[in-house]
Formats: sequence, C-alpha cells, structure tokens
Amino acid sequence: MKPAPDIIISDMSQMKPTPRPVGALRADFPALAQKVNGRPVAYLDSAASAQKPQAVIDAMTKVMTEHYANVHRGVYTFGAKTSAAYESAREKTARFLNAASEKQIVFTRNATEAINLVAATWGETFLQAGDEIILTELEHHANIVPWHMLRVRKGVVIKVVPVRADGALDMQAFESLLSSKTKLLAVTHMSNALGTVNPVADMIAKAHAAGAKVLVDGSQAVVHLNVDVQALDADFYVFTGHKLYGPSGIGVLYGKADILAAMPPYQGGGEMIEDVTFERVTYKEPPYRFEAGTPAIVEAIGLGAAIDWLNGIDKDAALAHEAKLLAEAEEKLRAIDGVRIFSTAPERASILSFELTGVHPHDMATVFDQMGLCVRAGHHCAQPLMRKLGVTATVRASFALYNSMEDVERLAEAILKAKRLFE
Ligand SMILES: *Cc1c(COP(=O)(O)O)cnc(C)c1O
Repeated sequence: MKPAPDIIISDMSQMKPTPRPVGALRADFPALAQKVNGRPVAYLDSAASAQKPQAVIDAMTKVMTEHYANVHRGVYTFGAKTSAAYESAREKTARFLNAASEKQIVFTRNATEAINLVAATWGETFLQAGDEIILTELEHHANIVPWHMLRVRKGVVIKVVPVRADGALDMQAFESLLSSKTKLLAVTHMSNALGTVNPVADMIAKAHAAGAKVLVDGSQAVVHLNVDVQALDADFYVFTGHKLYGPSGIGVLYGKADILAAMPPYQGGGEMIEDVTFERVTYKEPPYRFEAGTPAIVEAIGLGAAIDWLNGIDKDAALAHEAKLLAEAEEKLRAIDGVRIFSTAPERASILSFELTGVHPHDMATVFDQMGLCVRAGHHCAQPLMRKLGVTATVRASFALYNSMEDVERLAEAILKAKRLFE
C-alpha cells in the first residue's frame, strides 16, 4: 500500500500576491491615457516628478470622503481613523527603507525640507567654525544651498568632490578630502541630472572611518534602486514623495535613533511639545519633535499608498525594464549625428542627459511638446554640474516603470525632427 501523500496546507496570509507584469502597469496611471497635442502622452520627465497610480489618488480621496480629521488630537472616530492611517504610512515608509523603527521616520514637506531640517538642527548644534562638510559636484541645489547657508551662519568649510569627465565621482579625490576635520558627507545616492549612481556604501564606510556623519539624498535612488538604510549604515537618508509615484507636499527624513534624539526641534508649534508654559517648553521624542503643526495628512497617506502599490509589483522586473529602456535609448541616440550624451558613468540608471549640437535644449523641448513628448530642458537644479560640463542646460529624458519601447522610439523620432528643423 502506498503511503498517503502529505497534505500541505499553505498559509495564504504569508504568501505574497503574484506580481503583475510590468507592461500592465501603465494602465494604473490615468494621466498616461491622456493626449498631448493630438498624440498619446510620452511622459519622459519622471525624474522631475512622477505620474500617480489610481491607487494613490483613491487613497487620498478616501480619507477626505470617508473620515477626514486632524491627527493625534480628536478622540472621536474620524480622528482615530485618520491618525491610524497617517501612522500606518510612517510604518510603511520605515519598512520601505528597512529602518529599524518607524520612530526614525520624520515626515517633512519634501527632500528639500528634510535637508534643511538637518542643517538647521544637527548642523547648528554640532558643527563649529572650521568644521568641514564634503559635498559633490553631482548634488542637486537642495543638497548645496542649505549647507551654504550654514556656512554663512557658522563658518563651516565646504569641500567638493569633483566629477570625472564620464559623470562618475572622482573617488581618489574624495578620499583625499577626508580628514579629522570632516564632520559631514552630504551626497546624492543617484544624480538627478546624469543618472550616475554613487558608491554610497563605500563612501559612508570611509566617512565613518574619518569620524564624519553621512547624509544621503535618496530622492532619485528610492525610485530606481532597492534601498536599505541599515545595510548602508546611513546616518540620514532623505527622499521626496512626488518622485516615488506619491503626491507632492510630503517628504521623508530617516535618521539614526541616537542622532535624532540628540537634535533640537526644527520649528516650534503644536504637536511637537510635551508641555508648554510661558516660562518653559518641553519637547516630544522623535519623530514628533520635528513635525510642528498640522502635518500633510492626506499626502502622507498618499505616500503610504504609493509604497503599497510598489510592494504589489515585481520591483526587480520593473527595474530591469527601466534598464532596458535606458540602454535602448542610448543606442538610438548614439546613432544620431550631433547628439552628445552626458550620462556615461559606469554605474547609472534611468536618466539620459544629452544635447544636440547647435540646438538650444529649450527649443528641443518645445518641438518635443508638439509631438506629445514631455522631457526636461534646463539645468536640473544642478548649476555647478552644468558649469563643469561646460553647458548651461541639457535635455533630460528620464524613464519610469510605466514607460515603453514606443516612448523610446518617439524620443529618437523627435530628435531627428528637431535636427531637420534647426540644422
Ligand atoms: C528632486 C530632487 C531633490 C529635491 O526634491 P524636492 O521634492 O524638490 O524637495 C533633491 N535631490 C535630488 C537628487 C532630486 O532629484
């Protein structure tokens, strides 16, 4: 007699749903069904801001139609429900970054405010005149200007890691800038202007060995890489909601627990206090100490929905899809006479910065718009980098998981059209 087969009862609650194929994701974004100047929109400006899936729009509508109230105040049902949804967005964000605790997630207005918060609290408290901050030539203005303002206020010294001709950082120069005077490295994980992915794990280890703290600007990286703040050992990691398929008006500051606990508040007001008299105020623990006033409630919930949506897709397949689009676009653009590509670092993702000799980037973008293509022409909030490249502006096509090979083909077509018009 044969033994009875083992009966395997799978626990469905432990199983992840089968991820949806990448090609089907575009349909989740209602704006991408629109036409621009008679053509279906080819949205190639996600590095500036991404389109929103219906799930994000629905989550934001739901809170406002079903149980909207202020958070952390009302004991009534609406307040409790909205507070729970807001705090659940914080937990989702913590898991998304692999933070050890949701208490390490501070909601801000955007990445810019997250960096300003660190400069104004940690920077003001722990940096002295003569202390050195290392930035890189790849930084967005959001990771330059707050440090410049701190320099004006406190006399800290800013050192800059140069970028090589291929768009990668000069790592030898970085190491030679590190010294016992270095107190902070503030570096982008991925360049918004070129797509260069920086070796931040290695840079963090070296900065820590010199005794410095590290702030990583992850505004682009969270969209195009898998980020683990504990594996990186980042002291601060910031990103912005609207580039991660979430709404604008919400950003994230992750910080190590002991560092956040030692930082004074950023702004003063409601929600961030323990006790207030006219003589003395005591403050809450992080993250609430840093969230003065009514926060971006609906937007935080929208960000949580964007993270849920991302958790429901096969992110690795989506990233592979983006890499394929980038490679194909590069190949097509290289074949066009007069195109100069600036995105050439060995490690890069999803962004293609270029120019067409003799044609101003803004003229190109205007021609592109007539053909239903959205690209960015400008300095990409990275004027020091543009100066280094010897240009005032570039054209930037950036790819997201909802883009298709057809979008890439239309990009090449549009460049050929601009060439015919202007040459
Ligand atoms: C977009 C971006 C920022 C700023 O984001 P905001 O939402 O404008 O604060 C900062 N750094 C990088 C690398 C970016 O791409």
